[in-house]
Formats: sequence, C-alpha cells, structure tokens
Amino acid sequence: MNTQEPVRFLDLAATHAEVRPALEEIWEETMNSSGFIGGNHLEAFESEFADYCQSTHCIGVANGTDALELILRGLSIQPGDEVIVPTNTFIATAEAVVNLGATPIFVDVDPLTALITAEHVSAAITPRTAAVMVVHLYGQMANMDEILAVTNAAGIALIEDSAQAHGATWNGKRAGSFGVAAGFSFYPGKNLGALGDGGAVTTSDADLAERIRSIANHGRSLESRYHHDLVGRNSRLDGLQAAALRIKLAELDRWNQQRRSVAKYYNAKLPERFVPYIEAPLAESVYHLFVVQTIDEARDDVGARLGDANIGWGIHYPVPCHRQKPFVTGTTPDFEVADTQAPLILSLPMHPHITEQEVERVCAALDSKGLGHQEGE
Ligand SMILES: *Cc1c(COP(=O)(O)O)cnc(C)c1O
Repeated sequence: MNTQEPVRFLDLAATHAEVRPALEEIWEETMNSSGFIGGNHLEAFESEFADYCQSTHCIGVANGTDALELILRGLSIQPGDEVIVPTNTFIATAEAVVNLGATPIFVDVDPLTALITAEHVSAAITPRTAAVMVVHLYGQMANMDEILAVTNAAGIALIEDSAQAHGATWNGKRAGSFGVAAGFSFYPGKNLGALGDGGAVTTSDADLAERIRSIANHGRSLESRYHHDLVGRNSRLDGLQAAALRIKLAELDRWNQQRRSVAKYYNAKLPERFVPYIEAPLAESVYHLFVVQTIDEARDDVGARLGDANIGWGIHYPVPCHRQKPFVTGTTPDFEVADTQAPLILSLPMHPHITEQEVERVCAALDSKGLGHQEGE
C-alpha cells in the first residue's frame, strides 16, 4: 500500500474546482432552455475562439479527429492524394487522412523538439502531395516561417493539428492562425477541454469555412435547412460543451502560464540524466505535456520508481505511427529520431495546479536510482 499522497499526471478536478459554480449554472441554464444543440453559447464560443486563435472563422465540431477530417474534405483531398504527417503524433492525425481515402506520408521529427521541420516536409514532397498536416506536439508550435516557405513555394496546403496547442505561439502569433485551417480537440485532458468530447476548426478562408460548416451539418444548404447541396455528415459541438468551453477559455491564458511556470521549475530541478525537449527561440509552448528522455536507464525502471512514489506518468507515444499495424508495409522506413527516441520518452505530471513541492517530489523520485528501490515495497 502506498501511503504517499498521489502526484497526479493530470488533475481536472483541481481545474474545474476554480470554475465550478459557473459550470453548474450553465448546466441549470441548459436544462431550463433545452439549448442542447446549436444556440447562443455555440455561436458566441465560435466567435470568441476564432478571436482567441487570431483567426477569422471557427466551426464547432464533435471532436478533434473530425475537425482534421472535415478540413481535408473541405479541401477536396481524395484518393491518390498524399498528405505529409509527422510519425511522432497521436494516431488521429494519420487516421483523418486515411478516412478520406488519401495516403499519409510519414516523416521523421527533429531530435531536440520532437517536431516536424521544413527539411522533412521538403524531402517528402512528390507530384501527388496535396497537403502537410503539421502537428504542434506537446504544446509547442513547429517552425511556421520555414514550413510555410516550403508549402507556399510548392503550392500545397498547410494544415495545423493544434489539438495540443491551444494558445501556443510562433513569433507571437497563435496556433490556428497560420495554416489554411487548423483542427483543435477539446477532449477533457487537452489544455482547453470540454466536459466530454468536442473539437473545432479555425480558418481565415470564408469559402472553406462555409464548406466545412455545410459538410458537418448534413451538407445542408446555407439558404434553406430543407435543402442539401451535398452528402455530408453530422459532427456537432453541443450547446452545453460550448457554454463550458466559454467559461474555461476565459481562464486559458492564466492556466497556460501556470503550465509554463511548472515547466520552468522542472527544467531547473530535473536530474541531468533526464533530458527535456527544448523550446525553440521563437516558440512559446503551452506545455500540454512535459516529456523527457531517459538516458542511462530503462524507462520501465524509471516508471516503476515513479509508481512506487505514487507519481503518475505516461508515454506519448510509445509506438510511432509508421510502426502501427495499419501502416506497416514491406517498405516501412526506419526513422532515426522517432525510432530511437520512442523507447526513451516519458511524460511527467503536467497541469496548471501542480505545486513546486510536487515537482520536487517527481525530480527526487527520478534521481533516486539505486537508492533503495525494492520489489514489493
Ligand atoms: C487529441 C488529439 C487529436 C484528436 O482529438 P480527439 O478530440 O480526441 O478526436 C488529434 N491530434 C492530436 C495531436 C491529439 O493530441
């Protein structure tokens, strides 16, 4: 039995405790108004989130995976098209491409940031390349200036998978404002999370916004709800979720700043044998995750030690996409960085409400190699 207080990997209860009366109020309000689908809160959230992302349009959808899929469909990506995707990402990025019948072309990532770079993109472009899905992984934006220079020169679309990067900036400009469109997830554990599933597309292209809105709403004509211009689907952000997201969006910058302070404290206290990814000079990360590489010890041993000290941890991601079953082919390439780092990476507790004392406990547990870890203790 572990008698130590847990250090939680994620603490949604602590986050929600700060806004609980407001969340309870919108639940009451929604029950009274029956505004479950659409409504004022959805419209207001879409407008507030577009502003927050320094974009023009926002379309609330059912989840982040749908957001990516709807962008690809809005851009008429189709079978035969190739979409460049970093291999170190959550599977949803690649899934969206495959579900459109297109082909994900995986590329390696930078060893210091774990992000896709302009060199990776440029080397993977073929006459069939239709788009690049950049992933702002762990809360840090990829180098937008360099990647945009490559995609603009090649005439291919840049899409931002911003599911981990609400509020992150590159050279002072926010995630969701660079690409032709960006997909966001409001899965509860993301930096901006709903009370269930949710997602959004941001774009500054009015025609694309209109197309995506129609596809996500059964292909409905904007002129008449009884006419359908195309075969679409149903992907909606609930009124209740939109209302909850408005309440949490008002706190997001403060919560992201708290995450940045936690990261700074980790960087000051981490034992040298654990190497964090760096923040590029022009990037301001929102630290969705705080990931380190274990250098001289098996990750499982480190994890066991954290577990013994009642400290939560995770792996993002243990198997790069190109090694996942649906994507393994006879010609699956080796990706030096992703393949080398996948067995070494470990995600430490990260959320806005971790205390310095908790960070110290995590670092002490990491440092305690050989200091009396015994089986069954
Ligand atoms: C969470 C996530 C998604 C998918 O979002 P869902 O809302 O879970 O569908 C896509 N890409 C990345 C990088 C993610 O972290």
